[in-house]
Amino acid sequence: MSTKLFKRTKILATVGPSVFAEEKLKEMVYAGVNGFRLNFSHGTYDERDQQIATIRRYAAERGKSVAIVQDLQGPKIRLGDLKDNHLDVKTGDELTLDYACKEHDGGKILPVQYNLAEKVKVGEPVLLFDGKVEGITTEIVSPTAIKIKAQNDGFLMSRKGINLPDTDMGGDIITEKDLADIEFGASRDFDYVAMSFIQSADDIDKLRQILVSHGSTAQIIAKIETKKAVENDETMEAIVKATDGIMVARGDLAYEAGAEIVPIVQRKLIALCRQYSKLCIVATQMLGSMVDNPRPTRAEVSDVATAVLLGTDAVMLSDETANGKYPIEAVKEMKKVILYTQDNSRILPIEKETTGNYKNYDAISRAVVRLAEQIDADLIVTATKSGATAEAIAAQRPNIPMVSITSNPRVAGQLALTYANSAYVREYGDNYAVDAAQELKASGYLKVPEGKDSLTVVVVSGLRDEEGGTNQIQIRKI
Ligand code: PGA
Ligand code: MN
Repeated sequence: MSTKLFKRTKILATVGPSVFAEEKLKEMVYAGVNGFRLNFSHGTYDERDQQIATIRRYAAERGKSVAIVQDLQGPKIRLGDLKDNHLDVKTGDELTLDYACKEHDGGKILPVQYNLAEKVKVGEPVLLFDGKVEGITTEIVSPTAIKIKAQNDGFLMSRKGINLPDTDMGGDIITEKDLADIEFGASRDFDYVAMSFIQSADDIDKLRQILVSHGSTAQIIAKIETKKAVENDETMEAIVKATDGIMVARGDLAYEAGAEIVPIVQRKLIALCRQYSKLCIVATQMLGSMVDNPRPTRAEVSDVATAVLLGTDAVMLSDETANGKYPIEAVKEMKKVILYTQDNSRILPIEKETTGNYKNYDAISRAVVRLAEQIDADLIVTATKSGATAEAIAAQRPNIPMVSITSNPRVAGQLALTYANSAYVREYGDNYAVDAAQELKASGYLKVPEGKDSLTVVVVSGLRDEEGGTNQIQIRKI
């Protein structure tokens, strides 16, 4: 295909009942999905194994790399089952949330799936049912129960989410369930592990140690969805530096910190990720109305375009593909918006980090992108061992597609979500980046644009197959 048709902003889609059928997963791969999120809040390990195998099979058939993301539930706190699945709440009502309560009798003592008494302090807000009912903690009643006073009228239903915007989890965010899921995931084909509700860079360091102890090769995506994580610019910067990637998890973030802060936090996080060459994903309700409708709203289209213009690596679909009526249509609509936006605008440059380790990568990647854009190259080809060279070039947000060649399938999976990158696995050899570009042209994957007799390719490689060994930039006609 003409390189103009490559979308440079990637699509991450959530797997759920709407696309469990193998045929649907296949359609998603072919419609342009670059990564699949498996949400470990639901489902069994057997289902996960089947989904991974299906996704890998169709990606291989299609001849492209895709990323598979294991999304850990984290301390997502929920109510237990309520009698008749309903409880009316009036302003001033006192509700007891008791971890030891096993059955709700219809009264004001409610079962909850987490021991709030261990973390919550008197005076702290407890938001029930996605913020629809706000409670203020008035008393720690017992080692397992807290009492809250309702601040508004409303109603509750079984297993609805609870947010604790002002509660310090004290670095204790990885639950027993997460630990079991991490151990399972470490022996499976996951490219990324996403961690929910992180509050600080320490949470990421802890997760990394656990992943390493299980021999996992997955990279970390920190989901930014707590008030603590966005409290100040220093915290956000420390998190971005500690992690491999972030997700602007706008759903919970809006409940915890207020919807009005989300657009500015989104801008800051995308800029930080570009500065430090980290993966950035903008998530939640991007095309939310498509859960029920075949067309997105203008506001949703604008939201996707804004994320593209700000230079995110990827945009995410959640309910749209997991539980919606139009999962494939949602992917196609998202792709249309990305293609039109990238072809009619430019992502503005930002200040890049140029100290320490970043210095060499910055110098090379700047030179590559400037060169490629000035000579009107059709493609940038990188030979990349760890993926770092490809990520650094992508962080400059070139308006030219990139093909990255690596000998490591895990790196190829990870680069599938990186801006502008298509990744291919090749054994290391002399000239392998140029050979790979020639093969892609011979296979019909890359087409010479009309009015030209060859593809102009900027090839970035190293003399040795080693991390940080990049030392060669060539201009080739293919
Ligand atoms: P979730 O994360 O879909 O796993 O809750 C995304 C968000 O909160 O926006
Ligand atoms: Mn969330």
